[in-house]
Amino acid sequence: RAKQSGNNSYQFFQADMHREAMQRLALETALRRAINGGQLHLHYQPQVDAISGRILGVEALARWQDPEHGNVSPGDFIPLAEETGLIVPLGKWVLEEACRHAHLWQARTDEDFYISVNLSVGQFDTGQLVEDVRTTLEEHQVAPERLVLEITESLVMNDPEHHIALLRELKALGLRLALDDFGTGYSSLSYLRQLPIDILKLDRQFVRNVASSKEEAAIARATITMAAEIGLTVVAEGVETQEQLRWLLQQDCHLVQGFFFSKPLSDEELEKLITLPRSELVSHWPRY
Ligand code: C2E
Ligand code: MG
Ligand code: MG
Ligand code: MG
Repeated sequence: RAKQSGNNSYQFFQADMHREAMQRLALETALRRAINGGQLHLHYQPQVDAISGRILGVEALARWQDPEHGNVSPGDFIPLAEETGLIVPLGKWVLEEACRHAHLWQARTDEDFYISVNLSVGQFDTGQLVEDVRTTLEEHQVAPERLVLEITESLVMNDPEHHIALLRELKALGLRLALDDFGTGYSSLSYLRQLPIDILKLDRQFVRNVASSKEEAAIARATITMAAEIGLTVVAEGVETQEQLRWLLQQDCHLVQGFFFSKPLSDEELEKLITLPRSELVSHWPRY
C-alpha cells in the first residue's frame, strides 16, 4: 500500500510538472505574441524631490495585459523573458516606447526631466546594446540627458570587466546610470566607487523598516551618508508612509519613489501630472 501510494503521488507529481511546463510554454508563446503585437505598454512612476515637490523624472515599468492570461505581473513575465531570451526584443521595445514618450514630454517639462529604463543582463550580451541606445535616442530626437538606465548588481557580479566597459560606453553617450535595488545584493559601498554610476536606488526592503528597526535604520543611514560622500545621488524606492518619508528627510535623502507620492501611472495620467502648474502639483501630493 505504501508503495502504491508513493507511486500515485509520484504520478501526481509528474502530472503537476507536466502541467506547469505546459503553462509556462503557453505563457512564453503569449509573451512572444504580446511583444510583436503591441499588447505591452509602459507605466511611469514619478520620482519626487520631497523638498520642492517637483517630479524629477519617472521610471518606466513594463505592463502586459493579455487577452487570455489577463494582467501578468512583471515579477512573473520579466524573469520568464530573461530565461527565454525574449528580454532582448522586449527590452528594445521598452527603450523605443520610453524614448517616444520622452520626445513628447521633452517640450513640456523642465530640461532635466528624465525617463529611467530598466535593463536586464541579457541585453548587455547581444553586442548591440550601445548602438541600439544611441540610434533610438537619435531616431526619437531625445537628448541623452533625458535618459537614465537602471542596472542591478547582478550585472557587475558576472564578467565585471566586460560589463563595466559597456557601462562606460553607455555613459559616453551622455546618459546617466542608476544602480537599482541597492542593499539586496552583495556589493559593498567601496566596490561601488569602481562603477560608473550616477544614482543609487535604495531598495524598498531597506526603506521598509527604517522607522521601526534601530539596526536597519543605522545601516540605511550609513549607506545614505557614504553614497552621498562618494558623489552618488540617492533615490529611495518603495516609500509608502509619511513616517518613512520623514525619516529619510532627516537623513537628507529627499529624492523618493513610492506609493506615498504615486503608484506607476499610465502615460495619459502622468501627462496630466507633469503639465500641472508647480503650485497645483505641490497641493496634489499628500501632506508630509
Ligand atoms: P524595479 O525596477 O525595482 O521597480 C520598482 C518596483 O516597485 C515596481 O514594480 C513598482 O511598481 C514597485 N513599487 C513602487 N513603489 C512601491 C511602493 O511604495 N511599495 C511597493 N510595495 N512597491 C512599489 P513592478 O512594476 O511590478 O516591477 C517589478 C520589477 O520588474 C522591477 O523592479 C524591474 O526589476 C522589473 N521590470 C519592470 N519593467 C521592466 C522593464 O521594462 N525591463 C526590465 N528589464 N525589467 C523590468
Ligand atoms: Mg528599476
Ligand atoms: Mg528597484
Ligand atoms: Mg529590480
